[in-house]
Amino acid sequence: RPLVNSDIFVQVLQEAHALFAEDTEGVNADYIPELAKIPSELFGLALVTVDGRVFVAGDADYVFSIQSVSKPFTAALVLQEYDAPEILVERIGVEPTGLPFNSVLAVELHASRSVNPLVNAGAMAAVSLVPAEDKTERFLKIKQFYEAMAGQKLKVIKEVYRSEAATNQSNRAIANLLKKYGRIYADPEEALDVYTRQCAIGVSARVLAMMGATLANGGVNPISKKQVLEARYVPKVLALMLTAGFYDESGRWAYEVGLPAKTGVGGGIVAVVPGEMAVAAFSPRLNQAGNSVRAMRAIEYVSQRLGLGLFQ
Ligand code: GLN
Repeated sequence: RPLVNSDIFVQVLQEAHALFAEDTEGVNADYIPELAKIPSELFGLALVTVDGRVFVAGDADYVFSIQSVSKPFTAALVLQEYDAPEILVERIGVEPTGLPFNSVLAVELHASRSVNPLVNAGAMAAVSLVPAEDKTERFLKIKQFYEAMAGQKLKVIKEVYRSEAATNQSNRAIANLLKKYGRIYADPEEALDVYTRQCAIGVSARVLAMMGATLANGGVNPISKKQVLEARYVPKVLALMLTAGFYDESGRWAYEVGLPAKTGVGGGIVAVVPGEMAVAAFSPRLNQAGNSVRAMRAIEYVSQRLGLGLFQ
Protein backbone atom coordinates (compact mmCIF):
# COMPACT_ATOMS: atom_id res chain seq x y z
CA ARG A 1 0.00 0.00 0.00
CA PRO A 2 2.79 2.52 0.58
CA LEU A 3 3.29 2.38 -3.18
CA VAL A 4 -0.28 3.20 -4.18
CA ASN A 5 -0.96 6.44 -5.97
CA SER A 6 -1.29 9.25 -3.42
CA ASP A 7 -4.49 10.51 -5.07
CA ILE A 8 -6.54 7.87 -3.31
CA PHE A 9 -5.46 9.16 0.11
CA VAL A 10 -6.48 12.73 -0.72
CA GLN A 11 -9.77 11.54 -2.11
CA VAL A 12 -10.65 9.31 0.85
CA LEU A 13 -9.84 12.03 3.40
CA GLN A 14 -12.00 14.49 1.49
CA GLU A 15 -14.83 11.96 1.34
CA ALA A 16 -14.63 11.33 5.09
CA HIS A 17 -14.59 15.05 5.77
CA ALA A 18 -17.61 15.70 3.54
CA LEU A 19 -19.52 12.72 4.87
CA PHE A 20 -19.35 13.79 8.52
CA ALA A 21 -19.07 17.58 8.13
CA GLU A 22 -22.69 18.10 9.23
CA ASP A 23 -22.60 15.50 12.00
CA THR A 24 -23.20 17.33 15.31
CA GLU A 25 -23.61 14.36 17.62
CA GLY A 26 -21.91 14.57 21.02
CA VAL A 27 -20.73 17.48 23.17
CA ASN A 28 -17.40 19.12 24.00
CA ALA A 29 -15.78 17.98 27.22
CA ASP A 30 -16.73 20.50 29.91
CA TYR A 31 -15.25 19.06 33.11
CA ILE A 32 -12.14 20.92 31.97
CA PRO A 33 -13.84 24.33 31.52
CA GLU A 34 -11.43 25.53 28.83
CA LEU A 35 -12.34 22.61 26.55
CA ALA A 36 -15.99 23.64 26.52
CA LYS A 37 -14.90 26.87 24.77
CA ILE A 38 -13.30 25.19 21.74
CA PRO A 39 -15.46 25.76 18.61
CA SER A 40 -17.38 22.51 18.24
CA GLU A 41 -17.59 22.62 14.46
CA LEU A 42 -13.84 22.23 13.96
CA PHE A 43 -13.05 19.04 12.06
CA GLY A 44 -9.68 18.00 10.72
CA LEU A 45 -8.13 14.87 9.25
CA ALA A 46 -4.56 13.87 8.47
CA LEU A 47 -2.84 10.81 7.09
CA VAL A 48 0.93 10.29 7.15
CA THR A 49 2.62 7.35 5.45
CA VAL A 50 5.80 5.69 6.68
CA ASP A 51 7.62 7.16 3.70
CA GLY A 52 6.70 10.63 4.90
CA ARG A 53 3.85 11.63 2.61
CA VAL A 54 1.34 13.88 4.38
CA PHE A 55 -2.32 14.31 3.41
CA VAL A 56 -4.86 16.52 5.15
CA ALA A 57 -8.48 17.64 5.00
CA GLY A 58 -10.38 20.31 6.93
CA ASP A 59 -8.95 21.87 10.10
CA ALA A 60 -5.84 19.69 10.17
CA ASP A 61 -3.65 22.47 11.58
CA TYR A 62 -5.88 23.68 14.40
CA VAL A 63 -3.93 23.28 17.65
CA PHE A 64 -5.80 21.48 20.45
CA SER A 65 -4.68 19.77 23.65
CA ILE A 66 -3.35 16.25 23.22
CA GLN A 67 -5.02 15.00 26.44
CA SER A 68 -5.08 11.21 26.65
CA VAL A 69 -3.54 10.70 23.23
CA SER A 70 -0.35 11.48 25.17
CA LYS A 71 -0.63 8.33 27.26
CA PRO A 72 0.85 5.73 24.88
CA PHE A 73 3.77 8.06 24.19
CA THR A 74 4.68 8.42 27.85
CA ALA A 75 4.33 4.64 28.21
CA ALA A 76 6.74 4.32 25.27
CA LEU A 77 9.20 6.65 26.95
CA VAL A 78 9.09 4.56 30.14
CA LEU A 79 9.78 1.36 28.18
CA GLN A 80 12.72 2.98 26.50
CA GLU A 81 14.15 4.59 29.65
CA TYR A 82 14.15 1.30 31.57
CA ASP A 83 14.90 -0.77 28.48
CA ALA A 84 12.74 -3.53 29.94
CA PRO A 85 9.31 -4.59 28.62
CA GLU A 86 8.31 -5.96 32.04
CA ILE A 87 8.42 -2.50 33.63
CA LEU A 88 4.86 -1.71 32.55
CA VAL A 89 3.54 -5.18 33.43
CA GLU A 90 5.03 -5.24 36.90
CA ARG A 91 4.73 -1.66 38.01
CA ILE A 92 1.56 -0.47 36.28
CA GLY A 93 -0.30 -3.36 34.64
CA VAL A 94 -1.45 -3.92 31.07
CA GLU A 95 -5.00 -5.23 31.51
CA PRO A 96 -7.81 -3.09 30.10
CA THR A 97 -10.06 -1.90 32.91
CA GLY A 98 -13.31 -1.94 30.95
CA LEU A 99 -14.12 1.20 32.94
CA PRO A 100 -14.08 4.96 32.24
CA PHE A 101 -10.68 6.67 31.94
CA ASN A 102 -11.01 8.40 35.29
CA SER A 103 -12.38 5.47 37.24
CA VAL A 104 -11.43 5.33 40.91
CA LEU A 105 -13.12 1.96 41.16
CA ALA A 106 -10.62 0.58 38.65
CA VAL A 107 -7.81 1.40 41.04
CA GLU A 108 -9.59 -0.41 43.88
CA LEU A 109 -10.42 -3.40 41.72
CA HIS A 110 -6.88 -3.63 40.41
CA ALA A 111 -5.14 -2.71 43.66
CA SER A 112 -2.32 -5.18 43.12
CA ARG A 113 -1.45 -4.04 39.62
CA SER A 114 -2.92 -0.57 39.25
CA VAL A 115 -4.67 -0.76 35.88
CA ASN A 116 -2.85 0.15 32.63
CA PRO A 117 -0.92 3.14 31.24
CA LEU A 118 -3.79 4.34 29.02
CA VAL A 119 -6.21 5.28 31.81
CA ASN A 120 -5.57 8.18 34.17
CA ALA A 121 -4.31 6.09 37.10
CA GLY A 122 -1.79 4.16 35.00
CA ALA A 123 -0.84 7.27 33.05
CA MET A 124 0.08 9.15 36.23
CA ALA A 125 2.01 6.08 37.39
CA ALA A 126 3.83 6.10 34.03
CA VAL A 127 4.72 9.78 34.51
CA SER A 128 6.06 8.94 37.96
CA LEU A 129 8.34 6.27 36.47
CA VAL A 130 10.12 8.64 34.08
CA PRO A 131 13.57 8.96 35.65
CA ALA A 132 14.19 12.59 36.62
CA GLU A 133 15.73 14.74 39.34
CA ASP A 134 12.70 16.97 39.65
CA LYS A 135 9.39 17.88 38.11
CA THR A 136 10.87 20.29 35.56
CA GLU A 137 13.22 17.66 34.20
CA ARG A 138 10.46 15.04 34.24
CA PHE A 139 8.18 17.19 32.13
CA LEU A 140 10.98 18.27 29.80
CA LYS A 141 11.91 14.65 29.06
CA ILE A 142 8.31 13.83 28.24
CA LYS A 143 7.86 16.88 26.03
CA GLN A 144 11.14 16.30 24.20
CA PHE A 145 10.16 12.71 23.54
CA TYR A 146 6.84 13.82 22.03
CA GLU A 147 8.71 16.41 19.95
CA ALA A 148 11.03 13.75 18.57
CA MET A 149 7.99 11.60 17.76
CA ALA A 150 6.34 14.57 16.02
CA GLY A 151 9.54 15.83 14.40
CA GLN A 152 8.77 19.35 15.56
CA LYS A 153 8.63 21.60 18.64
CA LEU A 154 5.48 21.49 20.72
CA LYS A 155 4.03 23.94 23.25
CA VAL A 156 1.82 23.64 26.30
CA ILE A 157 -1.54 25.38 25.88
CA LYS A 158 -1.36 27.35 29.11
CA GLU A 159 -5.09 28.08 29.38
CA VAL A 160 -5.87 24.38 29.20
CA TYR A 161 -3.20 23.52 31.75
CA ARG A 162 -4.49 26.13 34.20
CA SER A 163 -8.10 25.16 33.63
CA GLU A 164 -7.44 21.48 34.29
CA ALA A 165 -5.06 22.15 37.20
CA ALA A 166 -7.84 24.11 38.92
CA THR A 167 -10.41 21.33 38.48
CA ASN A 168 -8.53 18.02 38.67
CA GLN A 169 -9.70 16.88 42.11
CA SER A 170 -10.60 13.46 40.78
CA ASN A 171 -7.12 12.85 39.33
CA ARG A 172 -5.64 14.11 42.61
CA ALA A 173 -7.73 11.54 44.48
CA ILE A 174 -6.53 8.79 42.10
CA ALA A 175 -2.86 9.81 42.48
CA ASN A 176 -3.19 9.68 46.26
CA LEU A 177 -4.99 6.37 46.19
CA LEU A 178 -2.14 4.97 44.10
CA LYS A 179 0.24 6.26 46.75
CA LYS A 180 -1.67 4.34 49.40
CA TYR A 181 -1.20 1.15 47.35
CA GLY A 182 2.46 1.86 46.62
CA ARG A 183 1.67 2.06 42.91
CA ILE A 184 2.99 5.54 42.14
CA TYR A 185 6.74 6.08 42.04
CA ALA A 186 7.18 9.78 42.72
CA ASP A 187 5.38 12.34 44.85
CA PRO A 188 1.70 12.05 43.81
CA GLU A 189 1.26 15.82 43.57
CA GLU A 190 4.27 16.06 41.30
CA ALA A 191 3.08 13.20 39.08
CA LEU A 192 -0.38 14.81 38.92
CA ASP A 193 1.05 18.17 37.88
CA VAL A 194 3.37 16.76 35.22
CA TYR A 195 0.53 14.60 33.90
CA THR A 196 -1.77 17.64 33.71
CA ARG A 197 0.90 19.57 31.80
CA GLN A 198 1.50 16.64 29.48
CA CYS A 199 -2.24 16.52 28.67
CA ALA A 200 -2.18 20.25 27.81
CA ILE A 201 0.52 19.93 25.13
CA GLY A 202 -0.78 21.37 21.87
CA VAL A 203 -0.97 19.21 18.75
CA SER A 204 -2.93 19.22 15.49
CA ALA A 205 -4.36 16.34 13.48
CA ARG A 206 -1.29 16.68 11.26
CA VAL A 207 1.07 16.44 14.25
CA LEU A 208 -0.79 13.46 15.74
CA ALA A 209 -0.66 11.65 12.41
CA MET A 210 3.11 12.24 12.30
CA MET A 211 3.52 10.92 15.85
CA GLY A 212 1.45 7.89 14.89
CA ALA A 213 3.43 7.40 11.70
CA THR A 214 6.59 7.20 13.81
CA LEU A 215 5.00 4.25 15.60
CA ALA A 216 3.86 2.78 12.26
CA ASN A 217 7.44 3.11 11.01
CA GLY A 218 9.06 0.98 13.72
CA GLY A 219 9.85 3.98 15.91
CA VAL A 220 11.62 5.99 13.18
CA ASN A 221 10.18 9.44 12.43
CA PRO A 222 9.36 9.39 8.68
CA ILE A 223 10.79 12.88 8.12
CA SER A 224 13.73 13.28 10.50
CA LYS A 225 14.60 9.56 10.05
CA LYS A 226 15.59 9.46 13.71
CA GLN A 227 15.01 6.26 15.69
CA VAL A 228 12.92 7.87 18.41
CA LEU A 229 11.63 4.65 19.98
CA GLU A 230 13.46 1.36 19.77
CA ALA A 231 11.64 -0.88 17.30
CA ARG A 232 11.13 -3.68 19.82
CA TYR A 233 8.95 -1.45 22.00
CA VAL A 234 6.59 -0.39 19.22
CA PRO A 235 4.50 -3.62 19.37
CA LYS A 236 4.12 -3.20 23.14
CA VAL A 237 2.70 0.30 22.75
CA LEU A 238 0.41 -0.76 19.90
CA ALA A 239 -0.89 -3.69 21.96
CA LEU A 240 -1.86 -1.29 24.73
CA MET A 241 -3.58 0.96 22.21
CA LEU A 242 -5.54 -1.91 20.67
CA THR A 243 -6.76 -3.25 24.02
CA ALA A 244 -7.26 -0.02 25.98
CA GLY A 245 -7.11 2.99 23.65
CA PHE A 246 -10.85 3.80 23.92
CA TYR A 247 -11.40 3.02 27.65
CA ASP A 248 -14.71 1.20 28.04
CA GLU A 249 -15.24 1.24 24.25
CA SER A 250 -11.94 -0.43 23.40
CA GLY A 251 -13.47 -3.80 22.59
CA ARG A 252 -15.99 -2.20 20.31
CA TRP A 253 -13.34 -0.20 18.43
CA ALA A 254 -11.20 -3.32 17.96
CA TYR A 255 -14.28 -5.20 16.78
CA GLU A 256 -15.39 -2.57 14.30
CA VAL A 257 -12.15 -1.04 13.09
CA GLY A 258 -9.38 -3.36 14.23
CA LEU A 259 -6.59 -0.80 14.52
CA PRO A 260 -4.48 0.29 17.51
CA ALA A 261 -5.58 3.84 18.25
CA LYS A 262 -5.79 6.36 21.06
CA THR A 263 -8.37 9.01 21.86
CA GLY A 264 -8.33 12.11 24.06
CA VAL A 265 -10.99 14.44 25.48
CA GLY A 266 -9.47 17.30 23.47
CA GLY A 267 -11.16 15.61 20.49
CA GLY A 268 -8.11 14.01 18.90
CA ILE A 269 -7.68 10.39 17.85
CA VAL A 270 -4.72 8.72 16.16
CA ALA A 271 -4.87 5.25 14.61
CA VAL A 272 -1.77 3.33 13.57
CA VAL A 273 -1.43 0.90 10.67
CA PRO A 274 1.86 -0.87 11.42
CA GLY A 275 4.36 -0.67 8.57
CA GLU A 276 2.12 1.61 6.55
CA MET A 277 0.70 4.83 7.98
CA ALA A 278 -1.19 6.65 10.70
CA VAL A 279 -4.55 8.37 10.39
CA ALA A 280 -5.53 11.13 12.82
CA ALA A 281 -8.73 13.09 13.25
CA PHE A 282 -9.88 15.98 15.42
CA SER A 283 -13.39 17.08 16.34
CA PRO A 284 -14.27 18.38 19.83
CA ARG A 285 -17.68 16.75 20.34
CA LEU A 286 -17.42 13.60 22.43
CA ASN A 287 -19.66 10.65 23.25
CA GLN A 288 -20.38 9.31 26.74
CA ALA A 289 -17.05 7.48 26.94
CA GLY A 290 -15.12 10.67 26.16
CA ASN A 291 -14.25 9.67 22.60
CA SER A 292 -14.68 12.11 19.68
CA VAL A 293 -17.74 11.07 17.69
CA ARG A 294 -16.72 12.46 14.31
CA ALA A 295 -13.07 11.54 14.69
CA MET A 296 -14.07 7.93 15.33
CA ARG A 297 -16.48 7.88 12.41
CA ALA A 298 -14.01 9.52 10.03
CA ILE A 299 -11.17 7.16 10.90
CA GLU A 300 -13.47 4.17 10.65
CA TYR A 301 -14.53 5.36 7.19
CA VAL A 302 -10.95 5.88 6.01
CA SER A 303 -9.99 2.49 7.37
CA GLN A 304 -12.84 0.75 5.56
CA ARG A 305 -12.22 2.53 2.26
CA LEU A 306 -8.52 1.69 2.31
CA GLY A 307 -8.96 -1.75 3.90
CA LEU A 308 -6.65 -0.95 6.79
CA GLY A 309 -8.05 -3.18 9.56
CA LEU A 310 -5.36 -5.51 10.96
CA PHE A 311 -7.50 -8.60 11.02
CA GLN A 312 -8.84 -8.51 7.50
N1 GLN B 1 -6.38 15.28 31.11
C1 GLN B 1 -7.58 14.50 31.00
C2 GLN B 1 -7.95 13.92 32.34
O1 GLN B 1 -7.12 13.54 33.08
C3 GLN B 1 -7.36 13.40 29.99
C4 GLN B 1 -8.55 12.50 29.87
C5 GLN B 1 -8.79 11.99 28.48
O2 GLN B 1 -8.33 12.52 27.50
N2 GLN B 1 -9.58 10.95 28.40
O3 GLN B 1 -9.10 13.85 32.67
